[in-house]
Parts: sequence; structure tokens; C-alpha cells
Amino acid sequence: MRIVLLGPPGAGKGTQAALLAKRAGLAHVATGDLFRANLERGTELGKQAKGYMDRGALVPDDVTTRMVLERFKESDAADGFVLDGFPRTIPQAEALDAALAAAGQAVDHALLIEVGREELVRRLAGRWICRACQTPYHDHSAPPAKPGVCDACGGELYQRDDDRPEVVGARLDTYEKQTAPLAGYYERAGKLARIDGLGGIEDVAEKLGRAIGGPAAVAAAHVTVE
Ligand code: ADP
Ligand code: ADP
Ligand code: ZN
Repeated sequence: MRIVLLGPPGAGKGTQAALLAKRAGLAHVATGDLFRANLERGTELGKQAKGYMDRGALVPDDVTTRMVLERFKESDAADGFVLDGFPRTIPQAEALDAALAAAGQAVDHALLIEVGREELVRRLAGRWICRACQTPYHDHSAPPAKPGVCDACGGELYQRDDDRPEVVGARLDTYEKQTAPLAGYYERAGKLARIDGLGGIEDVAEKLGRAIGGPAAVAAAHVTVE
């Protein structure tokens, strides 16, 4: 199964992609995480991306698409993936479709997680992520067992520079201008499902599971991997 998760910054893409990937045995491919990992390692790609990320703009399509297609070559992505944060523009969506078609594959579902601006700002202001494994936490809605420490790996939690209110406005505007049109793109392809992103993390996970065909579909995706 090949799934695209769409939604504005703070909608819960990272949280839900991790759950869905684990339960369905799919690779979790998150472009923001890949860029941040490159930044931490000080790679050329990280240096290229930094300026765009710092001001809440998108990294150019060619750089981003190349990084994703490289990631697809890793073995865990062969049987399916949950894409989190990609595509974010129409050219990226077209490049993804073309690359998959060349391999006789296609996106099966595009799931749009919808959350209003006020709640997005609240979520981003309280977000902490793990420096080692990038798991997201929240001061109020998803606190770690021990403050500042990742439940999953024991890594150090930090707040992203681009989650500061000064940058969040720019990121939400970038989303509206460049990424929101993807809903129409996938709707025309008959692949779009809109999911209400409000409610508890498990409630949202259940809605996403239903949109891709229910627990049976999630389990079936897992079986093909094993
Ligand atoms: P995105 O990847 O779309 O930017 P995240 O998954 O990182 O979103 O979630 C943004 C913030 O909101 C995080 O702090 C996360 O812990 C929190 N969060 C995720 N899902 C929910 C939810 N259903 N209700 C409340 N807070 C949530
Ligand atoms: P969020 O989880 O808050 O939606 P991400 O972690 O996915 O944010 O992305 C962080 C930043 O990385 C973006 O603001 C952008 O600069 C860059 N980025 C991530 N994905 C893409 C993409 N598909 N195209 C261009 N830039 C991207
Ligand atoms: Zn961690």
C-alpha cells in the first residue's frame, strides 16, 4: 500500500504516519525528518535546505524529489510506504506519480488531515521532537513520561526553531498557497479522503484506518511485508 498524508503543519501527519506505518508494516518516509537529519549531520543537502526551512519556505522541488526517490531505493520502502510531508507542490505530486508509474506502481490513498488554524498554532507552540528518532511530543496532548526525554529511544527532546510563532505564520501561508491545491489533484484522481484531525490521537488513527479500508486493510498490508 502506498499512502500520502496531506495536511498543514501541526495537523498530526508525523504522529499518524508513525502509527500507521508501524501497524501496517509500511516504511515511514518524512521529508522534514530527512532534511533535519541532514542538517544535524552537516551534509551538503542539509546546508542547501536550511535557509528555506528557517524562513518557512519550501525547499526547491528538484532537490526534494531527488531525496525522496533516493529514499525509495532502501529495501523497507519496496512493499509500500506512508509519505509524510511529501508531495507539497503539484510538480512534486506529478514527479511522484511518474516515478511510481515507471515501476508499475501508484499512490493508493491520499489522506488529508484537516485542523483549523487556531488549533495548529496551539499544537506547534507546544511541540517537542526527539533529536535522535524525531518522534513528536506535546506539552499537553502528548507529553513524554519523563520531561525532555523520548519515550521511544531515550533521546533528547527539543523545540524546532521553525515552530516559533514568527515562522509558523509563514509556514501556514506557504501551505495554503503551494500545498492546499494538492487536495484537488488527488480528488480528481479519485484518491482523496478528508479526515477530521480533531480529537484524540487514537480517534484520528481510527478514522485514517477506516479511510484506507478498515483494520483488515491495515492488517493485510502488514501480511504482504512479512
Ligand atoms: P505534523 O507532522 O503534521 O506537523 P505532528 O504529528 O508533529 O504534526 O503534531 C503536531 C503537534 O501536535 C505535536 O506536538 C503532536 O504531539 C501534537 N498532536 C498530534 N496529534 C494530535 C491530536 N490528535 N490532538 C492533539 N495534539 C496532537
Ligand atoms: P511539519 O511537520 O510541521 O509539516 P516538516 O517537518 O514536514 O513540517 O517540514 C519542515 C520544513 O522542511 C518545511 O517547512 C520545508 O522547509 C521543508 N520541507 C519538508 N517537506 C518538504 C517538501 N515536500 N518540499 C519542500 N520542502 C519541504
Ligand atoms: Zn527518540
